[in-house]
Formats: sequence, C-alpha cells, structure tokens
Amino acid sequence: MSFPVYLIGARGCGKTTVGKLLARQLDYHFCDTDQQLQQHLEQSIADYVEQYGWEMFRQQEHQTLTAVASNNTVVATGGGIILREDNRHHMSHSGTVIWLSVDHQILVERLTADPEIGQRPTLTGRPITEELYDVLQQRTPLYQQAAHHVIDANQPPEKIVTDILTALSHDAL
Ligand code: ADP
Ligand code: MG
Repeated sequence: MSFPVYLIGARGCGKTTVGKLLARQLDYHFCDTDQQLQQHLEQSIADYVEQYGWEMFRQQEHQTLTAVASNNTVVATGGGIILREDNRHHMSHSGTVIWLSVDHQILVERLTADPEIGQRPTLTGRPITEELYDVLQQRTPLYQQAAHHVIDANQPPEKIVTDILTALSHDAL
C-alpha cells in the first residue's frame, strides 16, 4: 500500500489530529490541505475568504488537493472538500478515502472548546456551532458517497487510528 490516504469529515472531526498520528504509524508523510493553502496564499483562510469569497477559495483548495496527492502521504482535507464532484472523484480514484464520522453534539463540544477552529469563517457568517446542523445535513450524504471507509471518530484519537489501520489492512488483502 503506497497510495495517499485522504481523511474527510466536518471541521473538528479530528482530521489533523488523527492524520498526524496515522502518518507516524504508517511511516507516511503528513499533509494538511488547509495548512498548505494558507502557506500558498500567504494569508489565513479567514482573511482570504473575506477578501475573495468562498468560490475562489474552493478553486484554490481544488488546486492544492490535486498538487499534494502523492503516494505515502496522509492528507487531512478541509471540511468542504467533498462539495466539489471533481474533488470527490480525484480522491476516490487516486487513493483511499476515510470519513471520520462524529456525532453533532460531540462536534459542538470540540469546536466550543477550541476557539481557534470554532472561530474560523463559516458559510453564512453565523458561528460554526449554530450552522453546524445545517452543514452536516447537506454534507453527510457527500461524505458517505466519497468514503471508502467510515470510521467512528467519537472515540479517542489512538482508537480511531487503530480502526483506520484495520480498515486499510482489509483493503490490502
Ligand atoms: P479537523 O482537522 O478535522 O478540523 P482537529 O484535528 O483540528 O479537527 O481537531 C479539532 C479539535 O478537536 C482539536 O481541539 C482537537 O484537539 C480535538 N480532537 C480531535 N480529535 C479528537 C478526538 N478523537 N477526541 C477528542 N478530541 C479530539
Ligand atoms: Mg484540520
């Protein structure tokens, strides 16, 4: 197994946290599309979206995704990456897509406890914890559709990594 592993899921589901741990276990590189994009744009996502809007951001995000996807890499993606069909297609055809599925209430708790993430710009300008329900309603079918594996990510990070490794080992058979 050497193809990229993509972690998808809502903001706060643990893509960055779990991705780093998983990369260490697999001895893979770790890449975070949000971080790559901020380096490339030379500004925060919040500032970029305020200046250019979400549509331009999604375009930049798409380019980042296709540029980072090398083998032996765990890719933590942005929560909205699955909105574009070309992103879903690219991920599912170039690697393994893992959805970190977290219950609404647990996401709210994590986002409330982590102001850095909870205060990132939202689609509507409402606080993320307020618009989360609507966002999940819209995106859950897309996460489902894009994922090769659905992982229960309401658990501690180490357990999530173990479950992902088990799922990947089944693929390799
Ligand atoms: P994402 O990259 O998906 O937006 P992060 O990895 O940044 O999510 O995690 C969001 C917040 O939730 C962080 O404060 C992180 O420490 C916490 N967190 C992530 N995964 C878990 C977990 N499995 N259990 C408890 N807290 C978690
Ligand atoms: Mg992240």
